[in-house]
Amino acid sequence: MVEAQRALLDELMGTARNLTDEEKKGYREVRWDDREVCGCYLVRFCPHDLFVNTKSDLGPCPKIHDPKLKESYEQSSRFELYMPRFEAELAQFCEKLVQDLDRKVRRGRERLAQDVDIASLVPMSTERAEQLATIEEKIKKLLEQSESLGEEGRVDEAQALMKKVDVLNIEKTALMQLASSEKGLILSQEKKMALCEICGSFLIANETLERTQSHISGKQHIGYGMVRDYLATYKAVKDKAKEEEKQAKEKELEEKRKQRETEELVEKRKENGRDKDREREKERGKEERAVLLKWTHPEV
Ligand SMILES: [Zn+2]
Ligand SMILES: [Zn+2]
Repeated sequence: MVEAQRALLDELMGTARNLTDEEKKGYREVRWDDREVCGCYLVRFCPHDLFVNTKSDLGPCPKIHDPKLKESYEQSSRFELYMPRFEAELAQFCEKLVQDLDRKVRRGRERLAQDVDIASLVPMSTERAEQLATIEEKIKKLLEQSESLGEEGRVDEAQALMKKVDVLNIEKTALMQLASSEKGLILSQEKKMALCEICGSFLIANETLERTQSHISGKQHIGYGMVRDYLATYKAVKDKAKEEEKQAKEKELEEKRKQRETEELVEKRKENGRDKDREREKERGKEERAVLLKWTHPEV
């Protein structure tokens, strides 16, 4: 609140309003290109502003954020000149945030995998465990009785007990199945967690639509979305520029090569031309000599 009031006063009366005349002499108005002004804030956004009061809160930015400075930067003739520097600064910041977050996501994923392992060791409910123990006890007793009856030769009675054992075994199997499905139910209710790949938050899988929406409209998710989007766009633009530069260089080399070839060709033609001239001259010389010979020695 106090901060907001101060900002308002700054805007109305200037940041130098509380200074004495003496102080004002030494006071230097902060300009957008000063070192202490946040370049990320000037050019796009400052990550320090994105996660206020969330688990990812970065704390206040050590540099100045001031809408008036932003405005004067945007209107400055050096706007374009400074943009690459500020954008690179922001990209570096975003890169670090994404790297840290991705590390966190990786750890989270490992934790989820571990949770699933632990889940398989979750004991069954005590109620089911007691029921199971009672049945096992009964089976044991019946088997003992059946055995001693058999030893006494009372085969029919022994077989009758064995039938009871069979029934109890079926009950036991059913009980174990029930216990394990109950365990599965507990798991699906409590342990089915998922991880948001954008912001690294733990989510409950099969979450209600309402809660999913409140997650994606939350500060943390939106903030990391902005950071990732900015970084992706920045890299794409950089890659494109690099590719274009490469192509331009290749084209230049190609043109130079062609030019050299043309020059060589011209040179060769000249060379050939000179050879022919020489030959022609030689021929002419011969003819002239012959004529001269005929003329001086007509008998030849
Ligand atoms: Zn900042
Ligand atoms: Zn998220």
